[in-house]
Amino acid sequence: MRNHVPTNSPTTPEGHKDPDPVFTYLQLYADPTYNVLICRRPDCRHAISPHGAQVTAHLWNKHSIPLAERLGLPEHIRDHYSSGFRNPTEAALPPSSSRPHPHLLTYDGFSCRKCVFLTISFHELTRHISQSHLDGQTATRPRIGLLYDDVYLQSWGGGPNRRYWTVTDADGKTGRLVPGRVAKQPPPPPRDARTTCFLGVRFDKERPKR
Ligand SMILES: [Zn+2]
Ligand SMILES: [Zn+2]
Repeated sequence: MRNHVPTNSPTTPEGHKDPDPVFTYLQLYADPTYNVLICRRPDCRHAISPHGAQVTAHLWNKHSIPLAERLGLPEHIRDHYSSGFRNPTEAALPPSSSRPHPHLLTYDGFSCRKCVFLTISFHELTRHISQSHLDGQTATRPRIGLLYDDVYLQSWGGGPNRRYWTVTDADGKTGRLVPGRVAKQPPPPPRDARTTCFLGVRFDKERPKR
């Protein structure tokens, strides 16, 4: 085994400059920054579990790639990517408002303005706001209209434990235009600065007194 300094840049086989022809052929992509292995096929476009024979199992189970085309893939990964890949559920997340990752799905989603909650389910959003910010009151649309933003989200994984981050649109703008929704006035502070949401400050108290 040759000496290898761990790196998080395995987009190409170690010691090579060109894209990995095996990964290119199988429509896989090794992300150089976050060290995840992404399946680029249109019906996936998410990172896959890279351990053991799981990559070949994914190609067979999800895409019916015949054995002849998958043969030697675990050995290829072992031999050329000795630092391995992160599991999608454990990989670090890109910062908020990143440019969309070109090989991942982008979802229409929602971002709570009161905390760091992100979801692609409006039902989950209303449940979260009701429980966390409205003392259990029903989260009607008029009541929650000023408590969330329409955003674009991406995630490494496709499973139930997926974690999201916000991404910009193609023009680099944050936020997602939705018919009938009034564009938000001052932009929210950076997400990291919004963790002070549990102060118990109700939104109606912030309105000027008449
Ligand atoms: Zn796939
Ligand atoms: Zn919240």
